[in-house]
Amino acid sequence: MTNIEQPKEKETAFGVNEKGYYGQFGGAYIPEMLFPNVEELQQNYLEIIYRPDFQEEFHGLLKNYVGRPTPLYLANRLSEKYNTNIYLKREDLCHTGAHKVNNTIGQILLAKRLGKNKIVAETGAGQHGVATATVCALMGLECIVYMGEIDIQRQAPNVARMKMLGAEVRPATSGSKTLKDATNEALRHWINNPVDTHYIIGSVVGPHPYPDMVARFQSVISEEMRSQLLEQTGKENPDYVIACVGGGSNAAGAFYHFLDEPEVQLIAAEAGGHGIYSGLSAATTFLGKPGVLHGSKSILMQTEDGQVVEPHSISAGLDYPGIGPLHAHLWESGRAKFFAITDDESIQAGFELTKLEGIIPAIESAHALAALQYLKAGSDETVVINLSGRGDKDLATYMKYL
Ligand SMILES: *Cc1c(COP(=O)(O)O)cnc(C)c1O
Repeated sequence: MTNIEQPKEKETAFGVNEKGYYGQFGGAYIPEMLFPNVEELQQNYLEIIYRPDFQEEFHGLLKNYVGRPTPLYLANRLSEKYNTNIYLKREDLCHTGAHKVNNTIGQILLAKRLGKNKIVAETGAGQHGVATATVCALMGLECIVYMGEIDIQRQAPNVARMKMLGAEVRPATSGSKTLKDATNEALRHWINNPVDTHYIIGSVVGPHPYPDMVARFQSVISEEMRSQLLEQTGKENPDYVIACVGGGSNAAGAFYHFLDEPEVQLIAAEAGGHGIYSGLSAATTFLGKPGVLHGSKSILMQTEDGQVVEPHSISAGLDYPGIGPLHAHLWESGRAKFFAITDDESIQAGFELTKLEGIIPAIESAHALAALQYLKAGSDETVVINLSGRGDKDLATYMKYL
C-alpha cells in the first residue's frame, strides 16, 4: 500500500502558486458564467483530496480496481541495445490500458464529496471518455461525454465502449466537429448545470485548479517509481525520466516527485508529426508561443493573429495544439528538455520494444521510447521511461507499417 501523501509543506520552484500560476503560465481564463463552478473547485480541492477518508478510498481503488502499483520493469534487451539501464513504468497495465484512469478515479471521488451526481467530459480519440465512463459505471453516476461528430465516426470502438459502460455520447456538430468543439459544448453544458454536475478534464490543462489537481492524482506514478527504484537499484533517483507529452498528464505524474531533484533529468517527448517544419506537427514547444487555450495561459501553436493551428500527430493522444502550464514552465525554465519525435520514429520505436521485450506500446508511449536514441545515456546510468499505455488500440496504424 502506498503511503498517504500530505500536501508538500516546502516551497517548490515548480508547484502552482495561490493564483494558479507556474511562472508566467496557468491561471483561470474563463467566462464569467463559469466563475462559481471553478471557484468551488479552487476553494475545496486540496482540503478534500487530502482528507484521510479520501486518500484511503483513492488508494484502495488504485490498488484493487486499477491494479496499482504498476510494475517497474528492467528491460534487459532494450538496455543492452542502448548500452544503459532502462526501466519501464508499466502504466499500460492499468485497468482500461493507460494512466488516464488514475485521474478519473480521483475526480469522481471529488465529485461525490462535492455532492455532484452527474459527470460531463469531453473526449477526442475517446480514451479519456472511456476512462470517465468507466468510473461513472463504477460509482453509478450519470455520464455525458461530448465528442466531435467526426471523431465519433473515426473512433467507433471507443464510442461503443462508452455506450456499453452506460455513458451518453453527444456529438459536437459545430466548427471542425473535433476535440475543440467538444470542449466548448462540454463547458456550455457545465455552465447550464452548475449545481449537480462535475466536469472531468482529462489532462493537466484547463483553468486552475485542474492542472494542479490532475498532476496530484497522477503523481502516484513517480511516488511508486521512487520506492521501486530504491528497492531495485538502491537509489531513489534515476538519471533520466522520459515521458510523452500531449496535454502532459502522464509526464506530470512521472516527473512530479523528481521536480526538486536537480540531478534527475526530465525529458519530454512531443509529437513532431511529419517533422517540426513540415506543417504537419504537434511540437508545441518548437512551434508555439504564449497564449490562452482551454482556460489557461500556456504555450500553443497559433498563427500571427492568434488563431489556433490545427496540429497533426499519428497518435490521437498527442494531437493537441498546446501543453499544460506546468510543462510550459518546465520548458521555459529549462528544468525539462523537450524533443520532437516524428511519426516514423515513434512507429520504429514501437516495433523495437515489441520485438525486444514482447510489449506492444501505445503510439503515444512509443514517442517517449524514441527519445532514447537522443539521450546518449551512459552504461552506469539509469533511465526510467513512462509507458503510458498499451498498443492494442493502435494495431491498425502499426499494421500499415508492417
Ligand atoms: C491520452 C494519452 C496520452 C496523452 O495525454 P497526456 O495528458 O499528455 O498524458 C499519452 N499516452 C496515452 C496512452 C494516452 O492515452
